[in-house]
Amino acid sequence: MDKSEILNIFSSNHEKFYKVSLFERQGFQRQSCSICGKFYWSLIQRSACPDHENYSFIGNPPTSKRLSYIQAWEETKKYFEKNGHKIVNRYPVVCRWREDLYYTIASIVDFQRIVENKVVFELPSNPLVVPQICLRFNDIENVGISGRHYTSFCMIGQTCNADKEGGYWKDKCIDLDFGLLVDVLGIPPAEITFVEDVWLGAGAFGCSLEYFVRGLELGNAVFTEFEGNEKNYYTMKNKIIDMGAGLERFSWITNGTPTSYECTFEPVLKNIYKMSDLEHFSLTNKNRYDIDLLGNYFSKVSSKLDSFADPRMLKNQIAEELKVDVEKIEKIVVPYESLFTIVDHAKTLIFAISDGSLPSNVGGGYNLRILLRRALSLIKKTGFNFKIFDIIDMHIDQLQKLYPELGDSRDEIITILDIESKRFAETQNRIVNISDKIKKEKSKLDIDYLIRLYESDGITPDYLVEMGLLKSVPSNFYTKLSEMHSSINTITKKDKRNEIKLKDDIDIDSISKTKLIFYDNPSKFVFDAKIIKKIDEENLIILDKTCFYPRGGGQEPDYGLLGSFKVDNVVKIKDIVIHHVSENNNLKEGDIVNCIIDKERRIAITKNHTSTHIINSSSKNTLGSWVWQNSSFKEEAYARLDITHHSALNKTEIQEIERKANEVIEKNIPVYINFFDRGVAEQKYSFRIYQGGVVPSNNVRIVNIGNLDIEACGGTHVFNTGEIGFIKILRTERIQDGVVRLEFVSGQNALKYVQRQEDQIQFIVNALGTSKEKVLETFSKSLDDFDKLKKKTKNIIKNVSKIYSQNVIENSTIIKSNNGNNQIVKLYYTVEEELDEEFHLTIGHDAVEHDKNLIYVSIINNKSSARVIVYCGKESSTIIKAGTIAKSASRILNGSGGGSPIFGQGGGRSIEKLNTLKFHIEQMIKEKMAY
Ligand SMILES: [Zn+2]
Ligand SMILES: [Zn+2]
Repeated sequence: MDKSEILNIFSSNHEKFYKVSLFERQGFQRQSCSICGKFYWSLIQRSACPDHENYSFIGNPPTSKRLSYIQAWEETKKYFEKNGHKIVNRYPVVCRWREDLYYTIASIVDFQRIVENKVVFELPSNPLVVPQICLRFNDIENVGISGRHYTSFCMIGQTCNADKEGGYWKDKCIDLDFGLLVDVLGIPPAEITFVEDVWLGAGAFGCSLEYFVRGLELGNAVFTEFEGNEKNYYTMKNKIIDMGAGLERFSWITNGTPTSYECTFEPVLKNIYKMSDLEHFSLTNKNRYDIDLLGNYFSKVSSKLDSFADPRMLKNQIAEELKVDVEKIEKIVVPYESLFTIVDHAKTLIFAISDGSLPSNVGGGYNLRILLRRALSLIKKTGFNFKIFDIIDMHIDQLQKLYPELGDSRDEIITILDIESKRFAETQNRIVNISDKIKKEKSKLDIDYLIRLYESDGITPDYLVEMGLLKSVPSNFYTKLSEMHSSINTITKKDKRNEIKLKDDIDIDSISKTKLIFYDNPSKFVFDAKIIKKIDEENLIILDKTCFYPRGGGQEPDYGLLGSFKVDNVVKIKDIVIHHVSENNNLKEGDIVNCIIDKERRIAITKNHTSTHIINSSSKNTLGSWVWQNSSFKEEAYARLDITHHSALNKTEIQEIERKANEVIEKNIPVYINFFDRGVAEQKYSFRIYQGGVVPSNNVRIVNIGNLDIEACGGTHVFNTGEIGFIKILRTERIQDGVVRLEFVSGQNALKYVQRQEDQIQFIVNALGTSKEKVLETFSKSLDDFDKLKKKTKNIIKNVSKIYSQNVIENSTIIKSNNGNNQIVKLYYTVEEELDEEFHLTIGHDAVEHDKNLIYVSIINNKSSARVIVYCGKESSTIIKAGTIAKSASRILNGSGGGSPIFGQGGGRSIEKLNTLKFHIEQMIKEKMAY
């Protein structure tokens, strides 16, 4: 859609679209900007729109009220409550209800759900206000520097559905927002400018009014009213108001401090100023020159940064304006910039981790790792005397007043950050070596190289600056890095195996919905149904109703019989269940067929599915609240669950998860399944229900295991946990950074597994000729015996080596130089299949001791690959190095090798090259001897 064309549509009919009753009543005049032509409404004559205005509220706020960050929210909350709005708790910053977003980026996202590729709005109350924390990583470079950019901020979302009960439209919305500015913040009406704009996104659009005071945008009221595009659009059935305002700015406009950070982070900064050598600065603290300079500097930065792509250029310009050396400014300003950045990053980490996102090298976790590493580097570089944990504590103390849930996560946030900080310290040790290498090789540190260093070795450019290897961090480095990882495509793609695809000529929408019997009657395994569609060439059959569970939610499908034909795959496309039969059949559309579900398979899968929920909850209870289901798979023979966790699991943790899971089985807890309205389920059970990902329907099926585990899930489940009998974890594996896989079996399969293990132990017991009770003792004795035997063999080799090396020398080929300098090399070359490495290492070593002109080359060919061992005597190594021979021999074998002048090794897989290898080695030696 073309934004300017849509703006034209609205502008040309501004009486209808923009003129709200407030403008009429109060006498707001529509004016156009003499610079950019934008239209705006104001009580007084203005020659330009607020875009061109400096932040004149800095040092001179337009109100006598002074509201702290928390107060600004409390006042706003009171105001909207009084005006009939429900105050809704913030939604998680980890956006689990939208597959296309990692993090919640705006308050309206809370209420957006994607249904068949279309955004729909679902409001839990009407009208409502939410203090939504939003995470954005697209401006990381400016955070801490600009005076107003953040990686997390609170967007006050005033939202309503205009066409539902309680809803209102433009006139009332602007009346309310005007009241908020005038009555709550105390801003005189003449200070307020409303700017005309449009909003578009996801197939819908509408006009918007942004409101500004002294150059600062305080809010934007968006009126989404049309669907379609600029050529062809119609009015929506449910028009939506989405007013978003930054809480940070509400506090800032009333205080007029040089930066907005001083308001948002006030209690935290005060503490730090006390702890460190920094002094509190603000425009009222004009008793010292450098403090005064800071205030002046940040006042200028705050309103100017937009017009400068590179903050460093801005610094130069401000230095000029203030008539101060840029170096001097740097010295005074940089510690504050660092401090603001650290404090911002710590706050974002608190929200992200407490909502279940872990720092990692994949997906959204990548941004968190950047934030932490950047904060740690800055603390170290600036020499601050506090730790990141101190800042975390101070933040939580303050923010608890607004978000009480943060207090509960304090310990877990600290745990995660502690692990991550240690990991970073380890990486830094590695860095020292790498930076030495960079120094030596004088590599060019362009942005691509810097990104490579960060990706493969975890080296931050900040660190390279610290080491004096880099002059400054490229201004777009962190943005570029986070862009690379913000693409949602990196989320694990669905397994496409076993999917059934229908040909284009089959119109699925014309087939009537399959009735799903397995939900109402999960114990029904035999049923009659009518064939309503048959797709012959692919052996696909669609019934009017079915007990066959189709593949979905990680659960594999039911098998069984359809008539007398085997069903071996079942899928669901939209509302239609499609059965695949394994052979050609004579079934006809309209036939009534008798179907039988493979009961044993279904029961095994069902037990595994409920076990997955149980393992998920016992993992969380054992490891920490950051555990979420990443994905799962439930088959007849076993199940697997991938969870979010920072490290590989140790034996104690695995056993504890297993113990807790079996405890749930012992208690024989009933499993309740109920359908809820999506909004009700989210409010009642929190977003923890979305373990298996987004639910596409407004009617959510909630599986509740005795309030221990509550998930939205469409799978089959046992009635009571006791039916499962037994859960056994088979193995665990850290499959990627931040994700651990658990594989397990349940019920009869778990018993079978234990019995198989028992059989294996019995086999070992029999082979060792011992009893089960003594197997460990016997086994460790056997290991001892084996070690002794190895030592014995070594001794024998040593003893025969003297005799054998004589044999080697006698059987070597003599190569003489023909240039008159009388050089001699004796080459011994052998290809063996039986004798092992130990033997050749001993013989080769001894032989070249005995004859300094000898070169010993031994190839051990074990059929799939060959190993190369080379020794050179003292004399021959002056002509050619053992490492050189090993390297080029290995290269011929398509492998790699190398070594020192007297010993070399390597190998490769192209054993067909072995027959010409000796010739190559001889040639190489001759060349070196200038033959
Ligand atoms: Zn303008
Ligand atoms: Zn499930």
